Amino acid sequence: MSNVDDFLTRKEEEEIVLAIRQAERNTSGEIRVHIEKTTAISHYDRALEVFQMLKMFNTQQRNGVLLYIAVDDHKFVIYGDEGINKVVPTNFWETTKDIIQEQFQQRNFKEGIIKGILKAGEELRSHFPWTIDNEDELSNEISKG
Ligand code: CA
Repeated sequence: MSNVDDFLTRKEEEEIVLAIRQAERNTSGEIRVHIEKTTAISHYDRALEVFQMLKMFNTQQRNGVLLYIAVDDHKFVIYGDEGINKVVPTNFWETTKDIIQEQFQQRNFKEGIIKGILKAGEELRSHFPWTIDNEDELSNEISKG
């Protein structure tokens, strides 16, 4: 796997965008996906950098979540904003991570991303319920580096 564009088909990308919309029906949290080939810095640091680059802090409750994927490195990071970290336990993302990991190991990348997104939405729901005046604050499109 050496090309970010080969990682997912256009149809798979559309399914992922739909999953984000579906997940965000449960929660005021905002989920985004960023996919790139590799990074020279630590994946966690890079996820933070991408989070800033995409201006994902631009939410009222600071509850944006980034699923960062470095294709060639076989690494991913779930990075949640400070509004989330303030109210959830430290192992909050473990279940979501496990679900993604399990699918990625079988090279089911689309399934891993979609299941991860839906799980993240469910996990966020109890802390950040969807409300009637909830706005879609961050784009649901996949970002590519
Ligand atoms: Ca959104």
